[in-house]
Amino acid sequence: MMKRELFIAGNWKMNLNLKDSLQLAGAVVKGTSKFDNIKVLISPTFISLVIVSHAAEDSSVLVAAQDCHFEASGAFTGEISADMIKSAGADWVIIGHSERRKLFGENDEAVAKKLKNVLQNGLKAIVCIGESLEEREAGIQNDVIRKQLDYILEAADDLSKIVIAYEPVWAIGTGKTATPEQAEEMHKYIRDLIKKSSGEEKAESILILYGGSVSLPNAKELLSSPNIDGALIGGASLKADSFIGIAEVAEELSKE
Ligand code: PEP
Repeated sequence: MMKRELFIAGNWKMNLNLKDSLQLAGAVVKGTSKFDNIKVLISPTFISLVIVSHAAEDSSVLVAAQDCHFEASGAFTGEISADMIKSAGADWVIIGHSERRKLFGENDEAVAKKLKNVLQNGLKAIVCIGESLEEREAGIQNDVIRKQLDYILEAADDLSKIVIAYEPVWAIGTGKTATPEQAEEMHKYIRDLIKKSSGEEKAESILILYGGSVSLPNAKELLSSPNIDGALIGGASLKADSFIGIAEVAEELSKE
């Protein structure tokens, strides 16, 4: 099996003002500068995108917007386009985060439209999927994931431009993590689905991140699983020490 590069992504959500964003970005750039076996990404709010991109400019730290509208421009008050994100200096966008799906009514069709638009504009995407607690308790998590993934695979004609983030909704911001076994089982299922639809080579090379209360104490076990290629981190990405610490765990694992 090919070795995939571990990818550590921090989703800052609606946290940190300009000053705090700049400070954290600077700390991440400095603290991860010696890690050359992994990829590190940070995702500030739209407001901080320009200064964070600027802070990361001469480093290998990648920068993502947390969302992107699916139209190029026009009468969409409050929205941000792919071109604006590019011009702010970011190359990545997080699409379909469960908070956007749940709190802002984004369905699979909207996620697919956003993803298509982002890729057409030359940006890359971290696309999030995940089942709710009720769905897991009902035992239908695989069906939910298959449906969400179908829309994504249909919308993305170049899988090398996307990373999948499996984030069980019940594990996000709750302190409850999926066990490494639960996460590995779902990641393997996702990779097998991609294999069926897009072939072995693409399935083996796509990165599948885990998200849901990843922290310094649980990172090593999760990241050691064969089909977990990194993490999308919310809470623990807001503190330089914990985020850089998780990146260091990934860097060390990559050297093994
Ligand atoms: C997330 O925002 O994608 C996330 C997984 O959050 P947390 O790490 O806080 O659970």
